[in-house]
Parts: sequence; structure tokens; C-alpha cells
Amino acid sequence: MAAMTIRFVGAARQVTGSCYHLESRGTRLLVDCGLYQEREHLGRNWDRFPFDPRRLDAVILTHVHLDHSGLLPRLVREGFSGPIIATPATRELLPIILLDSAHIQEEDAAFKRKRHAREGRRGPYPEIPLYTARDAEQVFPLVTPVAYGEERPLGDGCAVKLHDAGHILGSAMAEVVWRENGDERRIIFSGDIGQRGKPFVRDPSVFTQADYIVMESTYGDREHDDPRAVDEMLAEAVNRTLRRGGNVVIPTFAMERAQDLLYYLSRLTAEQRVPPLLAFLDSPMAVEITDVFEKHREFMDKETQALFRSGQQPLRFPGLQLVRTTEESKAINSLRRACLIMAGSGMCTGGRIKHHLIHNIVRPESTILFVGYQARGTLGRLIADGRSPVRIHGEVYPVRAEVRQIQGFSAHAGRQGLLRWIGNFQKPPRRLFLTHGDPDVSEGLGNLIREGRRWPVAVPGYLQDWSLD
Ligand code: ZN
Repeated sequence: MAAMTIRFVGAARQVTGSCYHLESRGTRLLVDCGLYQEREHLGRNWDRFPFDPRRLDAVILTHVHLDHSGLLPRLVREGFSGPIIATPATRELLPIILLDSAHIQEEDAAFKRKRHAREGRRGPYPEIPLYTARDAEQVFPLVTPVAYGEERPLGDGCAVKLHDAGHILGSAMAEVVWRENGDERRIIFSGDIGQRGKPFVRDPSVFTQADYIVMESTYGDREHDDPRAVDEMLAEAVNRTLRRGGNVVIPTFAMERAQDLLYYLSRLTAEQRVPPLLAFLDSPMAVEITDVFEKHREFMDKETQALFRSGQQPLRFPGLQLVRTTEESKAINSLRRACLIMAGSGMCTGGRIKHHLIHNIVRPESTILFVGYQARGTLGRLIADGRSPVRIHGEVYPVRAEVRQIQGFSAHAGRQGLLRWIGNFQKPPRRLFLTHGDPDVSEGLGNLIREGRRWPVAVPGYLQDWSLD
């Protein structure tokens, strides 16, 4: 049968910019269209797409995280007009995520223009937004909801089925099948693979057969802390910091991580394992997403639905304040009482967290608590790695606050989880592609699988083409 070609446009020897281009005979598909977030790769967000957006038949979107969805507004502005296949929950959440991203792009561009004018220099990237809220608005009418397990034809013998990835609400793995003269090939895109036993989401789907597999490898080199201990570590960090009279500052991904935190904090306060807390969710986006969680209980796993039915409020607790306006956000920094602040962005690359860092990073009594993945080259990674001083908004600050990390919150499977996932396949695929990982991490996992299972494994590079026949 005619070969399909895959081009690795992003998440190739890196953790962001997920994007795969598939072509077979007349059909061209994209799986994800993510933003590049590592500092050294930001320029790629401005590069020409290495394919013609006008000639794509469809985009399959695995989930709303920006490193999977964040370049869709540019794709549509540059002529893509086909369907964006996604789950109903993803369709509900996508406008919140992309409009926020557009606003950040617009604000950052304005801020940089001002700063560079003041300093009389130019930055490395254009001082215009990558895309605007108007560009983002053009994406939403194209989103075509497809339920988990429903097969969707994409033309010319090609079809896709989405399966629950258990990563964040609405997240999917994509099973792409193409058929010709009674022959067929099946390629599984793992998307981001979730951890088992997480609040709100079901456990990740598993498969027994595939010709090709494209699997993420974010945590291919390590295990997370025991997920059961997450609440203990959180309680300990909160109690210690409050005793010192400092603030707990948590760079928070608005999607899922913020709701996970609310879930655990609500439990810790109810069980009196932390004192009555003054806590701020300082992220209009996280607040909006929390609304979607509370309104659409049908998207949740059985356990969470049962909690809601029994009258509990798993996302609320006394002392929790949802912050929307900039004025309310600024007021937090003049408080005299110790508090907990959750704000975005999750890797400290932008947003309100930067202001909270400026106010707390030099205070030894405060704690900067990381509960999410920090990509190489981001401000969050520098702080998490113990670098000091760090540059925030053009000023240099020594890091005097305590810096801690809890990895068990991760929405990604650890190494054992990844190996367990591939262990469900009953025979080796024609090839396993490892993506969405730092190069040494993906290579290490690749070696383990090559040696342990004798599978053909590749760790493709940026813009590499492979023929799938
Ligand atoms: Zn993700």
C-alpha cells in the first residue's frame, strides 16, 4: 500500500511544540499544533510552517495544553479551514486557553515594545503579538467534537478515533488508521499519557496492536514521588512556610494543576491538616476553567461525580479567594498576613506569577513551590534548578526564598507508567517513535526499550521525515 509520511515538526528532541504532519496520497493531517516554549526555540513560533496550512484536510487536537494547541490561531490565520477534531471537553476548554494565550502575546509585545524603547534596543523577536484574540476567535468554529471511541472518517481511506489519555480533562490519544485494498495501517499517537489514580480524570487507555506508535517521553528517566504522598508534601510545605510567616507561591498551570491543588487543599483544610488558609487563585483563566469543571461533571471520572452527588465541593474551601482583576491581584502583595498564592504561568514564562515572584523570591521566609514540569530554558526551570540570581521583567533578583518541588502532581506518567503502557501491545510495532522529551531522556528510554523488548525505536529530530509503510 502507498506509504504514509510523517514529519516531526515539534516535540522532537524537546518537550514543547507538539506537531506531527501526516501525508498519504491526497490526505494531509496534522496531529496537534503546539507552541514552542523553551527559550532557545521561541523563534520557531515565528518561522514559516514547514507545510501549507491551506492544504491540510484536518487537525487532530489531543488536548488543550498550549504546547499542543498554542499555534492553532496562526495556523488558521495562515489559511487552515478544515475541521479540528477534538473531544467535547476540549472544545469547551479551548477558547479559555487560546484567548488567554492571545492576551499574553498581546501584553508581552506591548511590554517589550515599551521596555526596548526605554532601553533603546531591539529584542530578538518581532515586537508584535504572535497572534491576537481576534485570530484565536477564528479557531473555535472549526472545532468538531468527536466523542471517545467514535470513528471519524477523514477522507481517502483515512480515519481517526480518540481514546481517553487520562492526562487532563478531555485529553485524548489518537488512533489513526488508513486503509487501501483491504490492507490497513494503524498509528497510535499517545498524546500526553496520564498518571493512574489522579483526581477528576480516568486512567489512560491502553492498546494491544499498532503498526506505528508515537509516544511521549517527558518523564522517561524517572519516577514521580508517590502520588499518595502528594497531600502530605503539600501540607508540610504549607505548614512550614506559614510558621515562618512567609507566603507559599505556587506557579500553577491553570488547566488541571490548579484544580488538582484546589482538590487537595480542600481535603487538607477539611481534615484540619493545615490551619485555616488564606489562599488566592490568582488566575482568571484558572477560575474560568474551574467553572467548566464544576458545570460539566459529565466530563469527570466516576469518583469525582460521586463526590459532587454526595453534596461535597471538591474544588472549594473556606478562605479560598478567586482573583480576577489586576487590582485584586496587586492587593495581595500588600497583605500583612501570610497566604498561599497560586498564579500562572506554570513555568513562570509570563503572567501574574512573575509579580508574585518579585515580591517573594528575596524573602527567606517564603517558599516557591513547583508542582509542575519546568521545561529547559524557562524561568521556572532556572529557579527550580537552584540558580540565583534570576532575571524577572528585566531586573535581577537573588533567590533567598526556599525552593521546593513536588513532582507527584504530574499529569504525566513516570517511567514505569510509560513502560506499562507499551507493555499492553501484544507484538512489537514496525517502529516506536519517542517524542516530547529532552533528548537524553528520550534516548535513555529508547535504549531501555530496544534492549528490553527488541523493539525498533527512533528518537526523531526536528523536521525529520519518516516513511511509514
Ligand atoms: Zn499536556
